[in-house]
Amino acid sequence: MTETYVVVGASLAGARAVETLRTEGFDGRVVLVGAENHLPYDRPPLSKEVILGHKQPGETLIHPAEFYSDNDIELLLGAWATRIDTHGGRVELDRGRSIAADKVLLCTGTTPRRPDVPGLDLDGVHFLRTVDDSAAIRDKLLAGGSVVIVGGGLIGIELAASALALGNDVTVLEREPGLLRRVLGTRIGDRLSRLHSENGIRIRTNAEVARIEGDHHVRRVHTMDGFVVEADVVVVGIGVLPAIELARDSGIDLDNGIVVDEFCETSVPNIYAAGDIANHPNEVAGERIRLEHWQNAQNQGIAAARSMVGHREPYRDVPWFWSDQGETNIQVAGRPRATDDLVWRGDPESMEFSVFHLRHGVLVGVVGVNRRRDVRMAMSLIDKQVRPEQALLADPAVDLRKIGDSQSVVRGLPQ
Ligand code: NAP
Repeated sequence: MTETYVVVGASLAGARAVETLRTEGFDGRVVLVGAENHLPYDRPPLSKEVILGHKQPGETLIHPAEFYSDNDIELLLGAWATRIDTHGGRVELDRGRSIAADKVLLCTGTTPRRPDVPGLDLDGVHFLRTVDDSAAIRDKLLAGGSVVIVGGGLIGIELAASALALGNDVTVLEREPGLLRRVLGTRIGDRLSRLHSENGIRIRTNAEVARIEGDHHVRRVHTMDGFVVEADVVVVGIGVLPAIELARDSGIDLDNGIVVDEFCETSVPNIYAAGDIANHPNEVAGERIRLEHWQNAQNQGIAAARSMVGHREPYRDVPWFWSDQGETNIQVAGRPRATDDLVWRGDPESMEFSVFHLRHGVLVGVVGVNRRRDVRMAMSLIDKQVRPEQALLADPAVDLRKIGDSQSVVRGLPQ
């Protein structure tokens, strides 16, 4: 009898998964369920190209519409999966609908964190997660005015740079003592913070939002330390939470997202998870991790689909992400930690530099600012778990590929 595989979550991981089911030769029924009324699209352009008007929302699709019909993939958009009947093998949907399923892949992603403050429902207060959010924010930014961004993380800073480029007066409120320190480390976070200030973004640190005020429209934002800033538009980007409700209500093991094994399978046989939601054992990182980045969504979606069709290979990727902040490209690979030993290549003042992270002598991570090539080369060294000579890493004249050839390779990462 023909099998049915249901993928819940029609974003990058889900779209790559259904594609892979077909390229791997699965000829049963494939259903892709998505809550939004849009074909699967890429999210990275939402804070940049879409806001700036360089790309129309329809230009960020992962596959054109005909891809789904050509590959006999059923799309159920605007539909909520409410529960998986793990005994009966059914995915239950809103409005009383359900689909019989032999295997299910959960790619339910994350939802924006909401601060517990008054004023979030005022007109002019936005969160950025979907293409509709991005289009609505763009409309407001085109009107021009005072833009307050709550949260100086990746969304906040990318969006701040875009809002500035559109001619707005931009203030970022960040509750930590510095911007981007948790993701990039203190020195790089602070260097970027200075760059963005020099470009004209007002940055206020140690500033946790206390309340957002207005009539029916937002007028100002208050911080806990008594600072008040006028606002025509507010965008809140204070992190995300894994969307676990469906898994929780279906009895699937959770711990910082959905717990999966190296084959992307959950605690319930024949139910898989991939992307932002999946807490997985990562051999390269040497620990369980849950990643909220594009590359992981894409590659884990592919890996999960391969597991579903019986190609059970452990998912093993060097974590990687990029962030474009105005003219500056930042890339991070591996799992850098604040406690690592650091080796700098290039001068941070130049805004073209990399920092390599070593743990007990082993290369475990790299952050590159306007140094794409360094990061690309370092990724294979991180994958091989080499012990590089620090002087070679620090010398911009040394080809990083040569380091991989000459250095000892260790297995198993120090914790
Ligand atoms: P984020 O990168 O975690 O940054 C949120 C920032 O807001 C943190 O610095 C956080 O400080 C701060 N914050 C938290 N509560 C606050 C408050 N009440 N008032 C002021 N500041 C506060 O999250 P995000 O920027 O919202 O991005 C959401 C997700 O999308 C993340 O997973 C991110 O990795 C992903 N994303 C990725 C990219 C990329 O890969 N290029 C781009 C955009 C977004 P604490 O650290 O103290 O909580």
